[in-house]
Amino acid sequence: MDFRVTRVEVNISQFQKNLLFFRNLIGQDKKLCLVVKANAYGHGLVPMAYHAQNFVDILAVATVNEGVRLREAGILLPILVLSTHLQSDIPIICHHRLTPLISHELFLEQYNHWSKYYGITLSLHIKVDTGMGRVGIRPEKTESLICKVKEYKNLFLEGICTHFAMADCGEAGQEFTQNQINIFQNLLNQLAQKNVVIPVVHAANSSGISYYPKSHFSLVRLGIGAYGYSEFSEVQPIMEFKTKITIIKTIPKGHIVSYGGAWTAPEDTKIGILPVGYADGYMRCLSNKSFVLVGGHQCPVLGMICMDQMVIALPEHVFLEQDVLLYGNDPRLTAVELALLAQTIPYEILTAVSERVPRIYY
Ligand SMILES: *Cc1c(COP(=O)(O)O)cnc(C)c1O
Repeated sequence: MDFRVTRVEVNISQFQKNLLFFRNLIGQDKKLCLVVKANAYGHGLVPMAYHAQNFVDILAVATVNEGVRLREAGILLPILVLSTHLQSDIPIICHHRLTPLISHELFLEQYNHWSKYYGITLSLHIKVDTGMGRVGIRPEKTESLICKVKEYKNLFLEGICTHFAMADCGEAGQEFTQNQINIFQNLLNQLAQKNVVIPVVHAANSSGISYYPKSHFSLVRLGIGAYGYSEFSEVQPIMEFKTKITIIKTIPKGHIVSYGGAWTAPEDTKIGILPVGYADGYMRCLSNKSFVLVGGHQCPVLGMICMDQMVIALPEHVFLEQDVLLYGNDPRLTAVELALLAQTIPYEILTAVSERVPRIYY
């Protein structure tokens, strides 16, 4: 057990409420895949998978290693591997029965070989590029890839999917996203005409789920929404990043604070030292920009954020070892608010929380 004062607290009952909300939104006839890549968006890979396993149908990770960690923790749900992998990962994928997304035919022989070796039938999902311009096979080449997969006895083409590039861009992304959905639907129609039936069809990420009901198909891939970042008020952030004040003191007018002297006290100033820094995932670009909450008061961050420490201005009534909210479920200070100040997206704020910060689940 790590007793560091800097910690992340994760609200599991709210997490399960978030999952149930999305389950109801998509309807009982669709499957729910929870994306737990990047340490479950910073919330902790294995614990989040464990607490989700009775609420979702499938899990998705980015890397083979993440999938292996889930299997070694005893997670039995199907696990999609969303990102690309090397040929040398194939024995591990087969051994742990992970489900890769494929977008070319180069590895089919190897998938089949190792599936046979381990005595399994390996499920595969084809990823189609309908406009994202990243991984995925072009729609017009999909049918030939499907035919190739079907030549292998130990491979089962379980799914076909695509990914949206602009579903979270509001109005600006509507035409583009609708076009992606149309391209995907046309491909599915063409395949159906040739009696090619693939049981699992998926496209939607969180914003697809929220804004494009037509994109739900038979399964949705829920990421950030599960962790509470969504426009639905029933859905609430579940992570609170916290620390405590470890030193309280007053510095005289004209004194600098922290490296580079990026902040100078305009008057005698009461400051607090926090044992958290950019190595914990509190981004350095927030130096002199962000604030924390102490007893409900907004306290500005003063000067440069260091690797392991930072300095804040303090109000009158504070006490040593008082709790400090770095961000969480206070509407003034969620990962969205912090992301605006850091000129990034909440995904980066959440996934930045590093390995050395203990996660506490309640
Ligand atoms: C990360 C990811 C998701 C989840 O996206 P959110 O916006 O967090 O819901 C879905 N699909 C793929 C392919 C992804 O890489």
